Order: sequence, then C-alpha cells, then structure tokens
Amino acid sequence: MSVYSQPDFDQHEQVVFFNDAASGLKAIIAIHNTALGPALGGTRMFAYADEEHALKDVLRLSRGMSYKSALAGLKLGGGKSVIIGNPKTEKTPEKLAAFGKFLDRLGGMYIAAEDSGTSVEDLKYVSQFTKHVSGVQDKTDASGVTKSGDPSPATAYGTFLGIQAAIEHKLGRSDMKGLTVAIQGLGHVGLDLARRLHEVGATLFVADLDAEKLQGAVENWGATIISGDDILYQDVDVIAPCAMGAILTLDNADSIKAPIIAGCSNNQLATPAVGEKLHVLGKLYAPDFVINAGGIIDVYHEKIGYDSVVVQKHIEQIYDTLNTIFTRSKEQGLSTSKIADMLAREKLGLPEPDA
Ligand code: NAD
Repeated sequence: MSVYSQPDFDQHEQVVFFNDAASGLKAIIAIHNTALGPALGGTRMFAYADEEHALKDVLRLSRGMSYKSALAGLKLGGGKSVIIGNPKTEKTPEKLAAFGKFLDRLGGMYIAAEDSGTSVEDLKYVSQFTKHVSGVQDKTDASGVTKSGDPSPATAYGTFLGIQAAIEHKLGRSDMKGLTVAIQGLGHVGLDLARRLHEVGATLFVADLDAEKLQGAVENWGATIISGDDILYQDVDVIAPCAMGAILTLDNADSIKAPIIAGCSNNQLATPAVGEKLHVLGKLYAPDFVINAGGIIDVYHEKIGYDSVVVQKHIEQIYDTLNTIFTRSKEQGLSTSKIADMLAREKLGLPEPDA
C-alpha cells in the first residue's frame, strides 16, 4: 500500500499507523498541516473494506480539517483519525484505552474529538488516558441551556446561517418564510437545522433511513417525506445534504433542480470536478468545510475557554466567509469550491494541490 503517492496525500506532515495486539486496535492518525496550530479533528470508527480505504478516508478528511479550521479563523491545524472496525460490534473499552495511550504519544500535535462511529461518551473515556481530547466538556449555550460537548447544535446554527447567505446571494431574498428546503438526513445536525428552518417559516421536505425521525418531522413541522435519493432532485429552493459524503457526482449533477446546495455533510463533492460542473450549471454550492464549521468552532472555544456569546459571534462569521466566497466566485468566474480551496491554501501557505 502506498502512502506518499496516494492522490490524497497532498503534503501531509505525518501519518501514524497504530497497532495494539492485546486489544486488537488498528488505527491511523493523519496530520495534514500544523502551520496554524495543533491538528484537531474527529475520530471515526468504521468497518472499512480494507486498509487502503481507511487510509484514503483519513487523508481526505484530515486535509478537509486543515481547510475548515483555516477558513474559520482558528489557531488549529487539520488532522483526523480512524479506528478500523464496526462501531456497533467491535468497539471495546480496551481498544479505546489503547487509542488514548497512542494518542498521548503524539504529545498534543493531534487532538481527537467525536465523529461518526464514536460518541462524546467514548471520547470522555479516551480522555482518561490522554489530555489531547476535545469536545467532551459540559457547557452553557447562549440561551442558558447546559449541554454536553456535542458540537451538532453549533454546526446546525452555522448551516442555517449559510443557507441565509446563499438565498440572499442567489435568490435576492432574506426572508425564509415559504422557502422550500429539502433536507437529506435528520441526524444530530439535520434535526436541529430543520427545527430552526421551521421556526422561520420554511417549508420542509425530508429524507432519512429512520422512520421514527421522519414521523417526528411530519408531526412537529408538517414536513413532507421523500424517499431515497429523490430528496436531492426535488424542485425546491435549497437542498441541504446532512447525511453522507460524496452524494454530488458528475452523473447526478444535471438532475439537481434546486438553485442552491447548502448542507452540513462533509465531503459532499465526489470529486473536485463536480464543483466545477455545479458552477457551470448555475448552481450555488456552499462549500461544505465552510458552512459546517460551527462544530469545530464550538470545540475550539471549549479548548481556549468557553464564552457562549463569543462562540455565537464566531459562528456567525460563517455567514461573512460564505458571502466573500460567493462574491469572489461571481467576480472571478470560478466555482465556489475552487475559491474556498484557494482561500484555505493561501492561509496555510500551501501551493496548489498535487492532484
Ligand atoms: P448523524 O449520524 O447524527 O445523522 C446522519 C443521519 O443521516 C441519520 O439520521 C441517518 O439515518 C441519516 N442517513 C444516513 N444515510 C441516509 C440516506 N441515504 N438518506 C437519508 N438519510 C440518511 O450525523 P450528524 O452528526 O448529524 O452529521 C451529519 C453530517 O454532517 C455527516 O456527514 C457529518 O460528517 C457532518 N458533520 C457533522 C458535524 C457535527 O457537528 N455533528 C460537524 C461537521 C460535519
């Protein structure tokens, strides 16, 4: 298996492969860039088909974190970790303990947080073995509610603001009353985003694999259920991908009717070329690592001292950053994804990517 010549390697500073025979832990930590600070990024646990897939995923996600933190104005670098295995059947306290001890060896160059397949509780457990864990403290939000380290409400708020910026730019409207939004995925972020959109009068179309969540959306917000991937092809103002990555492809881009794509999923574009195609098709794409930065902003403030008013103001900068990207895209005739990548690499002092 090659590492340096992987297309996603792209100037990574460090990639570490951990193996603990006693617990069976196999984990990879990728540190893309630490120019702005220590690398922070989630720990994903997934039953990868093979090591190659695990490596590709961690490299891709780690670079995304460098970009995300750079454009969110954080003194953080980008990194990510993956634990190979099924989180439902193969996650054990022994593996998490071994992971914590390995993490500790990196001396704080990488800081872990929760991600899909791991929970705040898991990370709290890991923090017994290393202090280099974030997103696990209880804190009080701007409305006075105490919550766990869960960054999802902050991500939902940033995504909501991103939709606001997008409709002003593309549709020339600021009011969300009657705005039609199709949300793919009613998870931690999608549900809170739906609630916010409903509160300002938006009309919701929703898809999820979980019938209970869908029923809740119908009862609470009068949402319309759409089955399967059709959610992406609804004739609505905005589609908000909030489930998985790589859902926008060269093949399906033509079928998207909505003028705006603005959701929280990571790595929505299957390849960079999809960003170019959406631009040519006249679709306004809110780059994922910009619109979904609320969570990392929240986690960062937990690290430096949490003040809910300061955090809220910081998340609100997502609106400004997206406005800058949308405006530059229009002025320079380049896709929003290209502009966002360029801005991030500029901040990191990185040349154009190898691939
Ligand atoms: P989650 O696991 O809580 O929710 C995902 C939801 O999507 C689940 O309800 C699941 O049933 C649904 N889903 C899965 N496949 C689907 C499909 N094919 N069609 C429709 N629904 C489907 O995840 P989350 O924390 O809400 O995060 C959602 C996305 O946002 C992920 O891509 C995540 O990486 C990204 N993200 C999350 C945060 C955060 O703070 N949680 C921050 C940044 C990015």
